[in-house]
Amino acid sequence: MKETNNPADKPGRETAEAADFISGFIKEDLASGRFSYVHTRFPPEPNGWLHIGHCKAMMVDFVMAERFGGKCNLRFDDTNPEKEDISFVEAIKRDIRWMGFDWEDREYYASDYYEYLYGLAVKIIKKGRAYVDDLSEEQISEYRGTAVPDKNNITQTPPGRNSPWRDRGVEENLDLFAKMRAGEFAGGEKTLRAKIDMADPNLLMRDPVMYRIRRDTHYRTGNTWCIYPMYDFQHPLSDAREGITHSLCSLEYEIHRPLYDWFIREAEVFPSRQIEFARLNLTHTVLSKRYLLKLVQEKYVSGWDDPRMPTLAGLRRRGYTPAAIRNFISQIGVAKNDSTVDIAFLEYCLREDLNKTSRRAMAVLKPLKLIIDNWNEELSGDLEAVNNPEDESSGTRTIRFGRELWIERDDFEETPPPKYFRLFPGSVVRLRYGYIVTCTGCDKDAAGNITAVHCECDPETRGGNARDNRRVKGTIHWLNAADAVPIQVRVYDYLFNTEKPMEAPLRPDGTPGTFLDNLNGHSLEIISGAYGEPCLAAAAPGERFQFERLGYFVKDDPVIKAETDKGADKPAFNEPAAKEPAAKEPVFNKTVGLRDTWAKIAKKTNS
Ligand code: ATP
Ligand code: MG
Repeated sequence: MKETNNPADKPGRETAEAADFISGFIKEDLASGRFSYVHTRFPPEPNGWLHIGHCKAMMVDFVMAERFGGKCNLRFDDTNPEKEDISFVEAIKRDIRWMGFDWEDREYYASDYYEYLYGLAVKIIKKGRAYVDDLSEEQISEYRGTAVPDKNNITQTPPGRNSPWRDRGVEENLDLFAKMRAGEFAGGEKTLRAKIDMADPNLLMRDPVMYRIRRDTHYRTGNTWCIYPMYDFQHPLSDAREGITHSLCSLEYEIHRPLYDWFIREAEVFPSRQIEFARLNLTHTVLSKRYLLKLVQEKYVSGWDDPRMPTLAGLRRRGYTPAAIRNFISQIGVAKNDSTVDIAFLEYCLREDLNKTSRRAMAVLKPLKLIIDNWNEELSGDLEAVNNPEDESSGTRTIRFGRELWIERDDFEETPPPKYFRLFPGSVVRLRYGYIVTCTGCDKDAAGNITAVHCECDPETRGGNARDNRRVKGTIHWLNAADAVPIQVRVYDYLFNTEKPMEAPLRPDGTPGTFLDNLNGHSLEIISGAYGEPCLAAAAPGERFQFERLGYFVKDDPVIKAETDKGADKPAFNEPAAKEPAAKEPVFNKTVGLRDTWAKIAKKTNS
């Protein structure tokens, strides 16, 4: 367990009940009178789309506020002009709404606080606690020093060196800071730094930069500003400005907390309190916008909403439901130690939800013709199929039975392997919702490929019920060839082959590997020439189904249809198979298979 300075961080806190250590802190603060209300914020930086890790943070922020009758703001932490864009703001808002959270009218932007932040910087300069430095950004880090292991391998942080400009007078600092703002210096020529302690063991406390000069155009403030506040200065003071009581963030900000408190104290503003919780990490998944952006920009995926991406848009397009994601995040809990969650557990939560909510339908991915040799008109009448056995209110639908059917190629074997209960010459099999049939043989082409299977149907078994109670071991799904609709199916696998994609071994030539080396070259299979029940032709984009025996599928609904998005100059959103022309048939994405691998893993680890 990672030791921290937080009083609540005691052994045993990680249990499910205590996982809610944040509530514990909040209760203490309300009881002690430190705060009389609860107000949180979700602070995404608009430099990419939200991923499932952000979703955890979002849930913590909104749910804590809700639990204590408080409010949660949405604040865009937008102080990096080079990377931010309005398209990201829009994508983020859409995804938060999709998750079912509502910030009402409390939509704020750090970029709206530039004047206020500037004022607080001036205040800190006047107190003699900040100075304008002429060192370059490289020199600043060189002077700051680094942590080094000593001979016993214990990390030491020898004191850094003071900048020669550290003792500038207040008047000179005020004048230079005003000139920085007025654009009198080139980018990188000067910075404003907090005057703290160049010997502090926490390197972040060694006179951190508060402002830097950047000549990029900001997506909201344009060229009004050429100095931009750094995160560590901006974030606590933006929190304070909004009266945020509890500033909840992921664990990597823990070492920033002394700085958070320092700026609040020196600026003499509302005493917001930072509390950290563990980041969400998932196996086979990269959860960092920087790397996700690289996947998008370099077209390893079709866009931010590619169904293989861990972005909320990708998950939605893959067929995930907000309920499944929320349930997953609630179940893993909010702990104080970092850990990696098995992606199979996310899939388990998804199946639980889809099983209850999705309509059943039949589809055949790799079709083979089945001919009912004793077919007659009487057999063709409407058959009744249940829409969802888990939900009576979803009713039934009718399907038709014809002389020619489609079945899965895999459901026939001329020479069956042991324990094969599907079709082979002489076998008896139930056609789901239809009849019991006896296989009589197959047709082959000149090359010996099987082109059709022949069966005799027992007319007394309509609905699949055997009149004589004989046991029929195999049941297969099928489609009536006359009214089956062509569909395209996209089957996905994990984007990365390895459980920890960020751990890449050295390459054969000795150079360091990157996460891209772990990309799974077979993460997308496009199946054209599949068929579905007639009802699939009218499926609404985003509608979810269980294709019987095959898994859960969703009618494709790309988030971005025509617009372009920054970082993917002409994203191939509608053409995931870069080379493949856009599909004419309706496209169904495979969400997840039916087989639950999680139960097995859980059993193994518990035993
Ligand atoms: P990334 O590491 O993906 O670039 P970030 O922290 O830079 O993420 P922000 O937009 O600043 O992205 O994050 C918004 C909020 O989401 C922050 O409060 C951050 O702590 C939280 N957050 C980011 N990643 C995770 C994660 N994997 N698990 C939990 N919370 C996260
Ligand atoms: Mg961040």
